[in-house]
Amino acid sequence: MAVSDHVDLPTFMEGVKKRNPNQPEFVQAVQEVAEDIYEFIQDKEEYHAQQILRRIAEPDRVVSFRVCWEDDAGNIRVQRGYRVQNNNAIGPYKGGIRFHPSVNESVLKFLAFEQTFKNALTGLPMGGGKGGSNFNPKGKSVREIMRFCQSFMTELYRHIGADVDVPAGDIGVGGREIGFMFGQYKRITNQFTGVLTGKGLEYGGSLIRPEATGYGAVYFLANMLATKGEDLVGKTAVISGSGNVATHAAEKIVQLGGKVLTLSDSGGFVHDPDGFSQEKIDWVKTHKTHRRGRIQDYVEAFPKATFHEGKTPWGVPCDVALPCATQNELLGEDARTLVANGCKALAEGANMPTDLEGVHVFKAAKLLYAPGKASNAGGVAVSGLEMSQNSERRAWKEEELQQMLKDIMFGIHQSCLTWGDQGGGYVDYVKGANIAGFKKVADAMLAFGVV
Ligand code: NAP
Repeated sequence: MAVSDHVDLPTFMEGVKKRNPNQPEFVQAVQEVAEDIYEFIQDKEEYHAQQILRRIAEPDRVVSFRVCWEDDAGNIRVQRGYRVQNNNAIGPYKGGIRFHPSVNESVLKFLAFEQTFKNALTGLPMGGGKGGSNFNPKGKSVREIMRFCQSFMTELYRHIGADVDVPAGDIGVGGREIGFMFGQYKRITNQFTGVLTGKGLEYGGSLIRPEATGYGAVYFLANMLATKGEDLVGKTAVISGSGNVATHAAEKIVQLGGKVLTLSDSGGFVHDPDGFSQEKIDWVKTHKTHRRGRIQDYVEAFPKATFHEGKTPWGVPCDVALPCATQNELLGEDARTLVANGCKALAEGANMPTDLEGVHVFKAAKLLYAPGKASNAGGVAVSGLEMSQNSERRAWKEEELQQMLKDIMFGIHQSCLTWGDQGGGYVDYVKGANIAGFKKVADAMLAFGVV
């Protein structure tokens, strides 16, 4: 008789740690999911017998490769590139590319693992993947970035394809970098396909893709508040980051009547007691994205604001919070401060910005707390819609896409309610998202047998 995988959670996690030494981010992501899934599958023998969780927590493949490029001074530089293809049970691998010095196998494995659940939650047919490099775009010329992107794609192209694996942007990779990579893919393969998303509108991109992650996170936040009969009008918001996700989240908060008090970058945070108006957000977008400037320069342009060097913004009292910078930027202590200061709701724009202790603090306080895999899924959802438009060789109108994004975020919220409602008016959104995402992928895997 087959022996089923009825090990308990600590034993399962011991195995994950042993098989993935020196990969703390990956182990953390698996632990957060396993805590909920273990409870869910307790009485479901087929998931145990088929070792489904163990299989999802083992990427289909991890590709690592050398990326050589020449800087403006003529020096030869060597970087490491990766693509982690975690799971394609429900569709082609899909997930962003990150260029940041902190990129390593652990970070990309955690992101690809999370992406698997997130993509399932959108309801669209997309598997989970993630890629990137330890290349640091800061301080590089546009030509250097172009040469790096071309060299990166010269290896990556053999592992991706419109029906195989469809990367997009992430930290350090925006429309410009996607353009360079798409150009190189097209040149090498002589094919014009929807192999990347986040493309420019002129060559197959979708309207509202740049805005989708930040806007979607705020729609999710609004859905959570609505369960308590509240909305964003007059609410104060603390946001970290000042990149794509943070600035678009700020924009949507302002559009829905809220007041954004902070934005940040890796140097510290800016507190503007008057709030960030659309004009100020536009200044940040231009300064950070186009001029590659620092957030601290904001206080010169808007002197009523203050800059707090080396600090995160979680000590500023607020009604709602949106961590939109990077992983583990909000620790247990920060979570306690937010709760003590009366924060009502938090939606993660970034991936895994809250550490495990912080997650437990929010759960214990019964905060309206949305994990990134639910609340930041708007970006990949519109990427999925970009894939559909590319396949159909057409472009949908902005109003259609805005409505689809809203509907998808509403649908994800509903899935979280279905699986996360704990009674007494408390919804555990982490549990809801984990179970809903897991179930879809797991059931597809069951259908395939042992592969
Ligand atoms: P981005 O445009 O490159 O902006 C990243 C922002 O985070 C910048 O303000 C950056 O500051 C800050 N940051 C990066 N690393 C940091 C660190 N170690 N400590 C403090 N601040 C740091 O990237 P993004 O696309 O907005 O992505 C932000 C987060 O959202 C990431 O977790 C990403 O995985 C997640 N996400 C993005 C999308 C998307 O569609 N773009 C979708 C889903 C999830 P500096 O300028 O100082 O580096």
